[in-house]
Amino acid sequence: MDNEKKPVVVSGARPTGRLHLGNYWGTMKNWLALQDKYDCYFFVADWHALTTGADKSETIAGNSRDMVLDWLAMGLDPVKAVFFRQSDVKPHAELALLLGMVTPISWLLRNPTFKDQLQELYKAKYKGQEDKMKKAEGVTKQLAEAHGHDADELALHSDMAVLGFLGYPVLQAADVLLYDAKFVPIGKDQLPHLEISRDIARRFNHTFGTSLLCEPEPLFTSATLVPGIDGRKMSKSYGNTIALGEDAKSLETKIKKMYTDPLKVKADDPGHPEGCVVCAFHKLYNQDWKAQEDACRTGKTGCGGCKKLLTELMEKEIGVFRARRAELEASGKVDEVLAAGAVRARAVADKKMAAASKAAGLI
Ligand code: SF4
Repeated sequence: MDNEKKPVVVSGARPTGRLHLGNYWGTMKNWLALQDKYDCYFFVADWHALTTGADKSETIAGNSRDMVLDWLAMGLDPVKAVFFRQSDVKPHAELALLLGMVTPISWLLRNPTFKDQLQELYKAKYKGQEDKMKKAEGVTKQLAEAHGHDADELALHSDMAVLGFLGYPVLQAADVLLYDAKFVPIGKDQLPHLEISRDIARRFNHTFGTSLLCEPEPLFTSATLVPGIDGRKMSKSYGNTIALGEDAKSLETKIKKMYTDPLKVKADDPGHPEGCVVCAFHKLYNQDWKAQEDACRTGKTGCGGCKKLLTELMEKEIGVFRARRAELEASGKVDEVLAAGAVRARAVADKKMAAASKAAGLI
């Protein structure tokens, strides 16, 4: 029934700019399905972007806009779901502050993602500057030893280990607890993150003798893994992506560059489609992909023809998306959607925040 209250689902995405097909098949297809079934709050996690990227903050506002344009162009619907920018809804920060009062630091230090990402950031910072890295490691190691810590935790003592980054699970908890999220869509590997949110909610309720915060449950979603044009995982950092609205000429060029079976030199050589990037995309865009695989194996098609067919099939979908995106961009609708979404989100978040302040004895 339309009037029946649907369970709330909350999910956010860091503003990474224009989406690529890896984002689309991995996460966004799930959002499209969720908006029909649940009461969805989808937000641009722009404060989260600052936790590891304060030095690149000039890209955040533009990237947020670009990402939401892609969301709308691919069919996410502001009538069905609420879309907003996290920083437009201040209770996210306010509740995070309150939750920080009951979250032990040891929980945050145990978060494996914190150390792993810190190591990655550390390596990225000194990429191609091994001398500098050794010097920095030397200083950091001395510091770590002087403070009686394990010298392996080098990155933990670097100036990249900022409070906002250590505390991002607290902000994540606030993001979902504000809306009484029943479900948070995640992959199985993200379960530890949700567990921290649940722990924090329990701790808040226990500390202040309330049942105000609801523990969200995982909604396991499947992700279709999409290879980049070089066969590695599709990622902007590898420079191997195809944008959701890739320009037609550039789409053709990228498909021509896709990794294929190196043993299939002539068109009639029998090929091995497994491991071929072109074949992986046929599986997504070609209903007759099985016949295409057979034709490859039996040497009935060559890589040139196979790529040409894929280009036509992908352009059919990507072209529609591109046109819709251009139309939305010209209309300025993104700003309207984000402003209206922030009003809707604030109406819920302000109420919850007032109740949390009351529970914590502030009012
Ligand atoms: S014919 Fe197609 S599937 Fe076979 S190796 Fe070439 S590009 Fe890949």
